[in-house]
Amino acid sequence: MESVIIGIDLGGTNLRIGAVTPDNEMLTPSVIGSSVVAEAPRPIEKICEIIEEYKKENKIENVEAISIGVPSSVENDKETVICTTNICDENGKAVFTHTNLAKDIREHFQIPVYINNDVNNILMYDIVSNHLENQKVIVGIYIGTGVGASVVIDGRPLEGKNGAELDLGHIPYFGGDEVCSCGKKGCCECYASGWRLQQIRKKYYPDTPIQEMFTRHREERPLKEFIKACAHVYAVMATIFNPDTVIVGGGVPEMADFPKEEFENEVNRNTGKDVMSYGFDYLYSQEFVGKGVIGAAVFARMRLYRKK
Ligand SMILES: [Zn+2]
Repeated sequence: MESVIIGIDLGGTNLRIGAVTPDNEMLTPSVIGSSVVAEAPRPIEKICEIIEEYKKENKIENVEAISIGVPSSVENDKETVICTTNICDENGKAVFTHTNLAKDIREHFQIPVYINNDVNNILMYDIVSNHLENQKVIVGIYIGTGVGASVVIDGRPLEGKNGAELDLGHIPYFGGDEVCSCGKKGCCECYASGWRLQQIRKKYYPDTPIQEMFTRHREERPLKEFIKACAHVYAVMATIFNPDTVIVGGGVPEMADFPKEEFENEVNRNTGKDVMSYGFDYLYSQEFVGKGVIGAAVFARMRLYRKK
C-alpha cells in the first residue's frame, strides 16, 4: 500500500478523519461528534484512540504523518493551539488554550504530527484542487458562522510573529458599535457573517429558512446591505495584498443564489485603484466535506518536503 497522511478536521461540531494519498484522494472518510474529544477527561489521549481505531478498522498502514486542522489560530511551531473558542468542555471552557497538541500524539505514533488552522488547510485544498500553486499571492476569505482568512505568498502561508495573524472576523469596521462575542465593538463578524445573516432573518424574514435567504430576498435592502458588508472585508484585503486570486468561500457565499455579480461589483468598486488597474481573479470555493481533511494532508506534505 502506498504511504498516506492521516488528515483530521476537528471542527466545532464534527471531527472528520481520512487517509489521504499522495495525489490527494481521500480514502475511507469517517465522521464523529467533536464532543467525544471535548468531553473526554484527557482530550489528546482521546484523539490518539480515535486515530488508532480508525487505522485498525480501515487496515491503514504506512502512515507518513498525522495532520490536524483546528478552529483556532496555531503558533508558528505548528504544534501549539492558541484557543479553541468553538470547542468547549461541559463547563463551557475552551478545551485547548495555548496547548501543545502535537507532542503527545507524535510520541504515541512516532511519526511527524502537524497542527494548523482549519481555514488555512481549506485554502491549501482550494489552491491544490484549482492548480494555483504557482501564483504569487492568494487571499482566501471564508464567511461561515464567523469569518476566517488565510493568505499564501510565494507558496507559503503568511505568518505573524506568534501565529495569531489574520484574525479577520475581529478586524474593526469603522464606526461600528455592535457588541461582538469577543467583547470588542464593531468587529467584522458583527456585520458580515452567518451570525449576522441569522439576525437579519429573525428581524425581517422569520418565515424564510436560512438556506433560501438569497433566493427569496436578494433584491431587498437588508440583504443588499449585508452583501456590501461582506464585500468590504474582501476589498480591504485585496487592497492590502494585490492578489492573483481572491478565493471566496464559507457557508454564506456557498449558499444558493448568493449574488456573485453584485458582490464582485461591490468589491471592485471599493478596492484601491492601483490594485484594480491590474485586477485579480475570483474563485468560489465549492461545498465539499472533505476539504479540511485533504487540506490538512496537503499542508503536512508541504512541511515534510518543502525546500528550506
Ligand atoms: Zn470581535
